[in-house]
Amino acid sequence: MTDQVLIVTGGSRGIGASVCRKASVFGHTVIVNYAGNKTAADAVVADIEAAGGKAVAVQADVSREADILALFNAADELGQLTGLVNNAGVVDFSQRVDEMTAERLTRMFSINVVGSFLCAREAIKRMSTRHGGSGGGIVNLGSAGSKLGSPSQYVDYASSKGAIDTMTVGLALEVADEGIRVNAVRPGIIDTELHASGGLPDRVAQLQSKLPMKRAGSADEVAEAIIWLLSESSSYTTGAILDVSGGRSILP
Ligand code: NAP
Repeated sequence: MTDQVLIVTGGSRGIGASVCRKASVFGHTVIVNYAGNKTAADAVVADIEAAGGKAVAVQADVSREADILALFNAADELGQLTGLVNNAGVVDFSQRVDEMTAERLTRMFSINVVGSFLCAREAIKRMSTRHGGSGGGIVNLGSAGSKLGSPSQYVDYASSKGAIDTMTVGLALEVADEGIRVNAVRPGIIDTELHASGGLPDRVAQLQSKLPMKRAGSADEVAEAIIWLLSESSSYTTGAILDVSGGRSILP
């Protein structure tokens, strides 16, 4: 049993994997959640263990409530939960809204929104002083898309991240006096495999020159902000939505 147990949904790759590695350095025992890529999740666990930390890979599809319950039960085996990073998220192929199927929308909102809500619910049940817990932190992954709308690409994705912005504010206030801080980071264009999964493997290269800093961000740069929001260094920060977008989200 350890003092700090952190669940990172989608911890096998990209931003989530970077959060897992960094959180371990700060003493968290890390649950590296993944949907299907066991090899990638095991590699994150191996990196953490090689550096002297403790981590466990747990498969769970956050669009499935039963999987989420099993994920949190696995965390309970390791100690008192102290943190959740609602990081698992998906995009989809570029489409206009008048082309989108109900299946696409259901998948998008089930993973990005319902999954984040259900994970938050389980975390609060364990961390809230109202439920006998001793407090903790939740960090949600939004997106600059929530402000930009992502027209002709994925308005559904951008809207799902708008829900995350609102959920962050409301939930932060709901549990502010229960020892739990809830914040979000809102990344801009970050160099991960997310873009290829939406059929745009060259998206970062194509957009780079149009970005304010003329480059995409890295997963590590986003993870740094998440680690700060989880830490005691941000002890009076709750309900905050921190843009980590290289200025993209404030473009006129
Ligand atoms: P990524 O590289 O595509 O990695 C996605 C991660 O989520 C993987 O670990 C994947 O697991 C996991 N995952 C996907 N569906 C899941 C499900 N149903 N249940 C559990 N885990 C699932 O993504 P990323 O770029 O790091 O993005 C992380 C978060 O940041 C997302 O919420 C994304 O919307 C947000 N974001 C990213 C960017 C960007 O430019 N990259 C910008 C703004 C916001 P497997 O390895 O098993 O597939």
